[in-house]
Amino acid sequence: MIHVQHISKSYGDIAALRGVSFHIQPGEIVGLLGPNGAGKSTAIKIITGFLHPDEGAVEIDGHNVLTQLRAVQAKIGYLSENTPLYPELSVQGYLQLAARLRSLPKADLPRLLSAAVYGTGLQEYLTRPIASLSKGLRQRLGLAQAILHEPRFLILDEPTVGLDPTQIVEIRALIKSLAQQSTILFSSHILSEVEAICDRVIIIINGELRADQSLRALGQSNDATLVLQSEPEGVAEALGSLAGIAQAQPAQSADGYPAWRISGSSDITPAIFELARQHNWALRELRRDTVTLESFFNQLATTA
Ligand code: ADP
Repeated sequence: MIHVQHISKSYGDIAALRGVSFHIQPGEIVGLLGPNGAGKSTAIKIITGFLHPDEGAVEIDGHNVLTQLRAVQAKIGYLSENTPLYPELSVQGYLQLAARLRSLPKADLPRLLSAAVYGTGLQEYLTRPIASLSKGLRQRLGLAQAILHEPRFLILDEPTVGLDPTQIVEIRALIKSLAQQSTILFSSHILSEVEAICDRVIIIINGELRADQSLRALGQSNDATLVLQSEPEGVAEALGSLAGIAQAQPAQSADGYPAWRISGSSDITPAIFELARQHNWALRELRRDTVTLESFFNQLATTA
């Protein structure tokens, strides 16, 4: 379990984080989302113990990151924005060095190295010097060092930044497969990426926590759209008389049919369907609207 309690951090005059708190339960994949400069990297550096907060604290599995850093580091795997890879080393040499730096038991090394290499699909590249690897392969190597000690928590800072679309798809699939063993927190400024991978999203804007939202719950909206074949008299009045309807705004469907955007206090589509049946309206479409992460995020980003 990761507990982030009211962390703040300033760089001189710049308040990068202001009193951010959240919790992550075992087994979750959580996306830390925000525009560039929002404070995501700062939060990740504090959570992984690379940076001290001015205020607040972080606990990982009951260990305080500031005072019990070694215990914390044994539990987390960290892929930083720019993983320091040594260009002259081979893939294998780099992972062996990472294992030594982590003081992993010699007896476990063959098993751990092989799991990290096969888990990230690097088995064909073991003897290749890092200098000759593509950005996507380097990112996989960064992930391999992050999972080498079988950490319970994987913390990844912008894991797909700078990759081409094919590499992005590969790294996303890899992150999803790693989630079978680890709890994952990763930062991104790409909405679709977070939507594709995460169970939950934490949104930071201007150093402040603006939302902590399950993506499954986000999809459900109480708004509905009604599209009719033609516009009979009295549709707005009839809709307005339905219990549970807050607003019914006339609109037009993309293909030019009369439409209404209706918001209610719960799912109102069954009542609208019944109303259309009673009035013999020629129904073209009736749907419960979904809230996309994009519309949710844009609403947050545009409200102060
Ligand atoms: P993100 O990861 O969301 O892009 P960062 O945490 O990197 O955001 O940055 C948050 C804010 O702090 C930005 O305004 C950034 O310019 C500033 N910042 C980050 N690191 C430093 C630093 N080492 N020195 C000064 N300002 C910094």
